[in-house]
Amino acid sequence: MFSSGRFGRRPQSAGRFVAATLLVLLLIGLAGGNDLARADTDFATWLADFRAEARAAGLSDATIDRALAGMSPNRRVLELDRHQPEFTRTFWEYLDNAISPERIAEGRRQLAANADLLAAIRARYGVQPRFLVALWGLETGYGSFLGDFPVPQALATLAYGSRRADMFRSQLIDALSLIEAGDISPGRMRGSWAGAMGQVQFMPSTYRRFAVDFDDDGRRDLWSSVPDALASGAHYLSEIGWRGDETWGREVRLPEDFPWVLADLSLELPLAEWQRHGVRRTDGRELPQADLTASLILPMGHQGPAFLVYDNFRAIMTWNNSSYYALAVGHLADRLAGGGPLQGPRPAIGRSLRFQEVTELQTLLAALGYDPGEADGLTGPRTRRALRSFQTEIGVPADGFPTLDILGRLRTAQNGYSAR
Ligand code: CA
Repeated sequence: MFSSGRFGRRPQSAGRFVAATLLVLLLIGLAGGNDLARADTDFATWLADFRAEARAAGLSDATIDRALAGMSPNRRVLELDRHQPEFTRTFWEYLDNAISPERIAEGRRQLAANADLLAAIRARYGVQPRFLVALWGLETGYGSFLGDFPVPQALATLAYGSRRADMFRSQLIDALSLIEAGDISPGRMRGSWAGAMGQVQFMPSTYRRFAVDFDDDGRRDLWSSVPDALASGAHYLSEIGWRGDETWGREVRLPEDFPWVLADLSLELPLAEWQRHGVRRTDGRELPQADLTASLILPMGHQGPAFLVYDNFRAIMTWNNSSYYALAVGHLADRLAGGGPLQGPRPAIGRSLRFQEVTELQTLLAALGYDPGEADGLTGPRTRRALRSFQTEIGVPADGFPTLDILGRLRTAQNGYSAR
């Protein structure tokens, strides 16, 4: 309830607040200006040092000048690099966003329109067309958004000012090598703020090692040549363990008494073993009798959908180290081939935990005597293992999946523990 006194003081407080805010903004502005001036000087020094390294790596002065002359750091790139999302999407939020009906329809159209090309690529690299088109769809909407950051500037900015400076420095050398080789001019080398380029969003190191000139025009052009882009994607997949005679995995149905501790990407069992644990296809039929090993993953814990994933799933995670991404690629590929939507439930677990909540969860687990590792706000293998132990202790399914509900139970357990 607001008191009248509070309303009475409000205009004055607001006036003070505005004045104080203006002063703070002014100070921030001055400090920011100094920072920027200093940053520009430091950047010039950094750039001179980098030019020497690029020369030592065998790049010509002409290439270095064309790519780096007159460059200053890109502030937007630094902002994006420093931005930490408050919390991530749940699996269903991610999937619904990644795989719209429009994306499925356009993917089917592209699959048909490029059938001959995709068959030729499959003959050379052994990658099934539906997976290439699914990757293409998720990376750039089938070539419709390639990113518009100038890549040499973005990479130089990150090599200068990011926490992962060494990695970006090496990517910048690779980007200059592509320019030197005549694959692309510096002006046309545009991409994501982190330097991913072209229709399948290759980083320069991947581009340099795996891009191919599939249309035989003498240049590897992943921006405007669909044959070059899709063949390069297939070449890369073939080099990171893709199996052309296998699929990615499948959605499955689990029995209620399933041993939840087995659901972990680091654990692989033969299909026959999963069959013995009661794992079935979503329509209830038995698993295929193939000599395969698979991991079982639960992207929303035991209340959500379940998937058995094979070697090709791991290849997709090598392409982009995210299990949501790999599931989206696999599922979109199935949809492009005529498959239906996922069958698994959409559990009402609320939103994903915020960074601070995962940190709290880790702190609570440690206080209760479990070993979740460092309280870093990330649900890694150790945190999952500790969470499973806690879940086993209190008699709930040990899926190692952090939810608001389990955080509440940890708080309660800690209060009881402190009271003892
Ligand atoms: Ca070409």
